[in-house]
Amino acid sequence: MRLDPPGAGDRSEGSHNAPRPESKPPMPFATRVLQICLAVLATGAVASPVAAAAADCGPQALGVSRIVEIDGGQRLALGLQTYPRALALRDREVVLTFDDGPTPGATSRVLDALKEECVRATFFLVGRHAEETPALVRREVEEGHSVGHHSYSHPARTLRLWSDATAKADIERGFAAVDKAGFGAAGPAPKIPFFRFPGFADTPELVRWLQDRGIAVFGADLWASDWQEMTPQAELDLVLSRLEAAGRGVILFHDSRPSTAKMLPDFLKTLKTRGYRVVHMVPGAGPTPVEDAKPGWTSATEAIIAKTLGKSKPREGRSNGN
Ligand SMILES: [Zn+2]
Repeated sequence: MRLDPPGAGDRSEGSHNAPRPESKPPMPFATRVLQICLAVLATGAVASPVAAAAADCGPQALGVSRIVEIDGGQRLALGLQTYPRALALRDREVVLTFDDGPTPGATSRVLDALKEECVRATFFLVGRHAEETPALVRREVEEGHSVGHHSYSHPARTLRLWSDATAKADIERGFAAVDKAGFGAAGPAPKIPFFRFPGFADTPELVRWLQDRGIAVFGADLWASDWQEMTPQAELDLVLSRLEAAGRGVILFHDSRPSTAKMLPDFLKTLKTRGYRVVHMVPGAGPTPVEDAKPGWTSATEAIIAKTLGKSKPREGRSNGN
């Protein structure tokens, strides 16, 4: 969803100042006050998911502690596992992100768990999956999550081995598929201008192309390694240990993974009991708070990509890797 910019409520006030036809009688004061109150209420309902969450959920729920606006105009490429810059979060703040869906079954359980705790997340969707299960995309939009993009076909050997023209066409097709499923129509630009490369395998040209269009590129600060087979308990222990070490960050999960769907309720409850707070990313005017990596930073994902690309021959079949 897109928040109204600050001052959106002023628009009704602006119309109040517009010239009125002479023939129209002045509006009674009580009616005008009522209209202003209704306008404020309506604006508040749209502009403040935090307030809505607080109203729907009791104090026991994790909820969303604050919203960060992502301004694609800042030419963003964020996430310490891949890029030497990160979204600047406060201590014990996390952003929840989910890749590769929507997937029947698992994505529904993930959405149920988020709803139960009044938490909002960012999903990076695979376009062809959005075409297959548009109802799940609509549900993500309706429940206030940010619906970002993760290419149309999610090639097993990443977009990096394709020509830039082919990769761009696939990314564009993904934008259109997700927006058509989630919002009923696709325009020239994605509704939610967030993109994560399949397998984090970007190219300088593709990053530049996305940034030129105001699309923010996301890596991740930490992850659950849920592309590997493990029990929900093992995944919970692993991601919590990594989070305790990092203290904060943008976390990558896969809503396509049953183990993630199963461990998520416990993960969210543990975040609450350990004093973590959830930040929700939405497109907006920013300024987006960013920070540089510490000296000596290196990419963790390049080694993984090299391993992935070393496993099979170019331009082979497609699957859902990370
Ligand atoms: Zn993926």
